[in-house]
Amino acid sequence: MRKLSIVLYYISVMIQYVIDLIYPSFCLHCHEDLKCSQLLKQRKTPLKLQFKNQFLCSHCLKILQLKEPGNIDKIAKIATIFEDIGPACSLVLHLRNHKLYSLGKMIACYVTLWLAKSTFPLPDVIIPMPKSSYAHWNFLFFVAKHVGKMIKRPVTRYKGKYFWQGDEKIDKTVLFLADTKRGEEVKKMQMFLKKHYKEVFTLTLI
Ligand SMILES: [Zn+2]
Repeated sequence: MRKLSIVLYYISVMIQYVIDLIYPSFCLHCHEDLKCSQLLKQRKTPLKLQFKNQFLCSHCLKILQLKEPGNIDKIAKIATIFEDIGPACSLVLHLRNHKLYSLGKMIACYVTLWLAKSTFPLPDVIIPMPKSSYAHWNFLFFVAKHVGKMIKRPVTRYKGKYFWQGDEKIDKTVLFLADTKRGEEVKKMQMFLKKHYKEVFTLTLI
């Protein structure tokens, strides 16, 4: 049985080696080669985990800082998941510029983990920032959709310009998901939501 698992391990390493030859993989932040030669050196770590860490090298993964869920601006009701430095910025930039579905799912897991640890209330609905002109795809909607699946909450999407008739507030708590806390468009959208929903909590990636 042990022999079989060793044989399977080396077969999977060989397959990964061939895939690396065809599609070279590099750390999205420091561009270190993530080829399977590294995997052979790091046999102590379970193989499954090695294959899942396909976006960052072990060094960058270590310095990827998930912010403490306690750091919430209680008046503005805004919080940020990652420190606005290094690997986190590279991950968000790559997600914005390339349709990397698996990276989107990984970031959705981080968002859900953060929510589970935080004092943010469970929202009635998740609303992502609409797609901006500089983004290649609606990556925040993709992330929000996967967070919604995990916490069993619906996602509402506003496309581009948003207009609203009347002043009535919808009796719902919103989790507004944006990529960065800076930027005028994010602030405008936040103001729009605050005007039309009972309560709005803003969560930004960086
Ligand atoms: Zn790296």
